[in-house]
Amino acid sequence: MLSKPETRAYREQLLAALNRLDDQRADLKVEALRALGGDASGGLSNVPLHPADLGSQSSEEDVMLGLLENEEQLIAEVRAALDRLERGAFGRCEACDRPIARKRLHVLPYARHCTSCARIVQHETAPR
Ligand SMILES: [Zn+2]
Repeated sequence: MLSKPETRAYREQLLAALNRLDDQRADLKVEALRALGGDASGGLSNVPLHPADLGSQSSEEDVMLGLLENEEQLIAEVRAALDRLERGAFGRCEACDRPIARKRLHVLPYARHCTSCARIVQHETAPR
């Protein structure tokens, strides 16, 4: 169980990460729009977010959209971690229910799994 100061510290860390990721995502969207030949002044909300929606793309666009997708995923992870924090489930491994090492949480506050489970999960969902 996390102490109150710890909870507060992790919340601040996660919110800071969320802000940073949001900024990066906004930048990436501008870049992606440019790569796709769109009009950056037309607003950012109309950027297609999923490469699958776009058909064939040049590799530069693929890279850009890959980055954007990573960013979206990270933001979702941070949001989920904040949610776990509010529910009191933060810091516990979703797979084995054991506490996640503080050292790991310090580096990766949105970690869902302890180190050993993460190794298994990452192995199962190996990057493309
Ligand atoms: Zn575990």
